Amino acid sequence: LERNGHQYEFQQAVKEIVESLTPVFAKDPKYMEAGILERLVEPERLISFRVPWVDDQGKVRVNRGYRVQFNSAIGPYKGGLRFHPSVNESIIKFLGFEQIFKNSLTGQPIGGGKGGSDFDPKGKSDGEVMRFTQSFMTELSKYIGPDTDVPAGDIGVGGREIGYMFGQYKKIRGGFEAGVLTGKGVLYGGSLARPEATGYGTVYFVHEMLQSKGLSYEGSTVVVSGSGNVAIYAMQKAKQFGAKVVACSDSNGYIYDPTGIKVETVQQLKEVERRRISDYVQFHPEATYHEGCSNIWTIPCDIALPCATQNEIDLDAAKTLISNGVKAIGEGANMPSTLDAIDLFLDAGVLFGPAKAANAGGVAVSALEMAQNSSRQSWSFEEVDAKLHDIMRNIYQNSMLAAEEYGHPNNLVVGANIAGFKKVADAMLAQGLI
Ligand code: NDP
Repeated sequence: LERNGHQYEFQQAVKEIVESLTPVFAKDPKYMEAGILERLVEPERLISFRVPWVDDQGKVRVNRGYRVQFNSAIGPYKGGLRFHPSVNESIIKFLGFEQIFKNSLTGQPIGGGKGGSDFDPKGKSDGEVMRFTQSFMTELSKYIGPDTDVPAGDIGVGGREIGYMFGQYKKIRGGFEAGVLTGKGVLYGGSLARPEATGYGTVYFVHEMLQSKGLSYEGSTVVVSGSGNVAIYAMQKAKQFGAKVVACSDSNGYIYDPTGIKVETVQQLKEVERRRISDYVQFHPEATYHEGCSNIWTIPCDIALPCATQNEIDLDAAKTLISNGVKAIGEGANMPSTLDAIDLFLDAGVLFGPAKAANAGGVAVSALEMAQNSSRQSWSFEEVDAKLHDIMRNIYQNSMLAAEEYGHPNNLVVGANIAGFKKVADAMLAQGLI
């Protein structure tokens, strides 16, 4: 940790893992003797590069691009690309580190990686986004490939950006290597149900948690933060399960609709027209808009699904949620709860689905997209969705089993970390000092 003194998000992610793994090291000293932890926290490779592009006024702009190739013990590096002004080495490393364990949990043969840039897509024209992504891919293309490293989307990177990047990769490398990126459009090698997968998967995971306690979504009140890819499909699936979703947000504020959020309106505003969530009230006057996204957690709910960004639920937000009677938390975003917030939820007996497990559905279906690309097949929506549902059920069960085996029954944070770790650690042991 000393080596990464200023990387707070990365340290937070490492701390959570290390604390969970104490019982594994106590039971099985071979991991400690082989220096597995010391090796795991050091990326196999971290690439940082210049991304020059020209804006609509003809002015030269320069951003910084990253790719961290964290761990390839069980498969090619796999993980999304984030375009957001807050992106730095710490953010990319925390995301890449978590990705190792998440990918392992999916049961698919994929290693851990992540990347992105401090480019801010907000307010940029389509032409500017294209020129930036092409420049980004011109450099990134040197380091990726269908059997080496397979990026996908994340915050600020959706179907449009993946399309431009795929086009540029193809132009540089020649041929049609469909498996080099996932989250592609279905017209050129994408998988059905990939856009839905992270949000749906989170809701499936919470469904398992609820069921274990004889609870269900039926008649429950749900609050979802964010209004991007993960949030939209989490809302859609929660509604299908019979819940009423009453609020969602963007980075400026949140909307509260006591009659239930109309997901189609959110989708049209955010995905198609790229507008702000505040505009929702123009179409649904029964709803109200509130400035400041973090206040969304003051709305009483049975189930909270944080689907926006890291550290969006702090200790105060957790206290408020608990005093308002929250029963379950499903982390759709990566590391949305601070460490003290997680401890509070666990102590209060709130069902807690940690990100590594609860949001693994997206990358799991990305691995299914890779499988379809390699075998030149396209599976139906129902087929992919059924596989996703199975994968989420397995992740839940394996995490519960690991938690039980290592003396922390029902603690899915510990269970997911241990289950994810053991597979990667054993593969590293088998491959010698790598
Ligand atoms: P999108 O860019 O589609 O949406 C992000 C949403 O979160 C937007 O509503 C955005 O608001 C809001 N947001 C972003 N940054 C902040 C911030 N600093 N404070 C408050 N709100 C913010 O991204 P995704 O939906 O793809 O990703 C959301 C989360 O889910 C991330 O943590 C991501 O790492 C995680 N995730 C995503 C996966 C995927 O398949 N896409 C897979 C697994 C995890 P605004 O419009 O104002 O920017």
